Amino acid sequence: MSVAHAPIDGSRFPHKHLLGIEGLSPDEITLLLDLSETYVEQNRRPDKKQSVLRGRTLINLFFETSTRTRTSFELAGKRLGGDVINISVSDSAIKKGETLMDTAMTLNAMHADVLVVRHPFSGGVALLAQKVNCSVINAGDGSHEHPTQALLDALTIRRRKGRLAGLTVAICGDVMHSRVARSNIHLLNTMGARVRIVAPPTLVPGQADRLGVEVFTEMAPGIADCDIVMMLRLQSERMSGSFVPSMREYFHFWGLDYEKLRAAKTEALIMHPGPMNRGVEIDSEVADDVGRSLIHEQVEMGVAVRMACLETLAGRLPSLAENDGDTSG
Ligand code: ASP
Repeated sequence: MSVAHAPIDGSRFPHKHLLGIEGLSPDEITLLLDLSETYVEQNRRPDKKQSVLRGRTLINLFFETSTRTRTSFELAGKRLGGDVINISVSDSAIKKGETLMDTAMTLNAMHADVLVVRHPFSGGVALLAQKVNCSVINAGDGSHEHPTQALLDALTIRRRKGRLAGLTVAICGDVMHSRVARSNIHLLNTMGARVRIVAPPTLVPGQADRLGVEVFTEMAPGIADCDIVMMLRLQSERMSGSFVPSMREYFHFWGLDYEKLRAAKTEALIMHPGPMNRGVEIDSEVADDVGRSLIHEQVEMGVAVRMACLETLAGRLPSLAENDGDTSG
């Protein structure tokens, strides 16, 4: 079970944690994308197993529900040969009132090597990272960041379009509450793409002008001549009060259907991080259009990207060879 590529040179990614895309350099992003690429091929083979994480323990700690992200981190950890444990808040002591700090102490005592955390509060994952001894990957914190989603989106785009620089990407819908949008904006800006956000005025984030994006409040001009149209779910769990008149009206003005899509380039591709609300932010026919929708490919790339992130952070762990000859028990 050999590694399909040479070990990562740690100096090329000098970070203990992956808490966000903000602050990563183009080289660091490219390193992760190139490494992910090797795992795409690996994951299509009958034998997907590697030994990169042999002897290591990965804990997935999810304070919010998740399907794709948690499953793909679990698959990624297992395919790399690690021991993977999933803890969700519904069956953990956190539900019984344990503080984040006590959780951190518990995890330290278990000697986890990598912790993957999703938390409903922006900054919740970074707080935990300060208290645990191991590397931490942010699997989504509130409306702040979701770095592996942006990386998998970038990998999907790069494989289809051959590049990121110079493309025009429209991120549409509930941008205000979306960590996916924020991470994508940082990544795409860093890699030289042009980013637009297209949202109802009530869902444009405050200080959008500081994000380095063009802001549109109508779909037709917003997606005009775009290469990529990325749709977002209405994050009602993060809304206090009502931000849109009704789902019907939202779909009428903001839902992506073929009629609205006509404004984009004829070869424009459609993305969505999932979970999708069909008939709200996206029409079913558009979502299922195999010629234009990249939604399934995004899920596939998610496993490869998470393998690359795990391998990169695990590269900082002490070598297993250090166990050799240790008979102290
Ligand atoms: N799955 C993504 C997230 O966790 C997008 C969403 O939930 O709408 O942020």
